[in-house]
Amino acid sequence: MQDIERLFREQLREFPLAARHYLGLSAVNYKTVVFPGGRFVLQFNPERIRSTAAPTDPAAIAARPCFLCPANLPEGQKGIVYNSEYRIYVNPYPIFEQHLTVPTVTHQPQRIAGRFGDMLEIAARYPAYTVFYNGPNSGASAPDHFHFQLAPGGILPVEEEANRMQSLTANRHGQIGTLSGYLRKVFFLHSGEKAWLISRFEAVLEVLGRFIPSDPEPMLNLIVWQREGCWTVALFPRKQLRPQQFYAEGKERILFSPGSVDFGGLLVTPRREDFERLELELLTELFDQLTVGDKEWEAVCREIQAK
Ligand SMILES: [Zn+2]
Repeated sequence: MQDIERLFREQLREFPLAARHYLGLSAVNYKTVVFPGGRFVLQFNPERIRSTAAPTDPAAIAARPCFLCPANLPEGQKGIVYNSEYRIYVNPYPIFEQHLTVPTVTHQPQRIAGRFGDMLEIAARYPAYTVFYNGPNSGASAPDHFHFQLAPGGILPVEEEANRMQSLTANRHGQIGTLSGYLRKVFFLHSGEKAWLISRFEAVLEVLGRFIPSDPEPMLNLIVWQREGCWTVALFPRKQLRPQQFYAEGKERILFSPGSVDFGGLLVTPRREDFERLELELLTELFDQLTVGDKEWEAVCREIQAK
């Protein structure tokens, strides 16, 4: 963890873009929307308009220089070596007081296959942080360059709410659980055994691949944290990137394009009008359009329990 603290201290001195935006973060506003199964914390953060509104279609992606490639880093940005494959950078467009990006060194697409174990290892190396992954069609702003992200541990409401998970299946290795009445469908995997988690994750992915859009991989958001030697994985399967209101015109438009952080309960809203009008009824309607439908969900749960 010390290496990340040091990176932050240095980058806030030497990387002007980051320094400006972390300073600006102290001015963001919050409000909380409570429902029987949990809570959403809304953050009004105008600087995030770039990420929320960014086009992620292949043509737009191909036309811009990749901001995660070492050759294109902005002036003053420096990272730390995690291992031969990954580097850790301060995210210059933060949602949290410490927001890090963990890209691969080489330019290769956002795919979780073969990398879930890396995610568990990063979470184990940095237990004070929470690791998250946005699928290529599920909120990643760089679907062409593989990356995880880190947030300070304990900020996302799901981390606390996971303590109330209802068990779907359990054995001596660990447990798969869920939360009902949570406004979005979620699986939790909970275990201290890396190999078991990897095999269960792959099994869940195989089932999901038959029920939700899966080109190039099942649409999902993933959040992983390790506390006291045990990992918890929150897996949010989804059927859509954005609600229809995102594409509406004028006052009907809502800039809501959620990724892992939002599915984890922290909703980042770059426009004041959205921040003000997003209340429980509207949030329920928006998440309904994105999360897996009830019928598919029941079928997926049945198959996972049978595995
Ligand atoms: Zn790249």
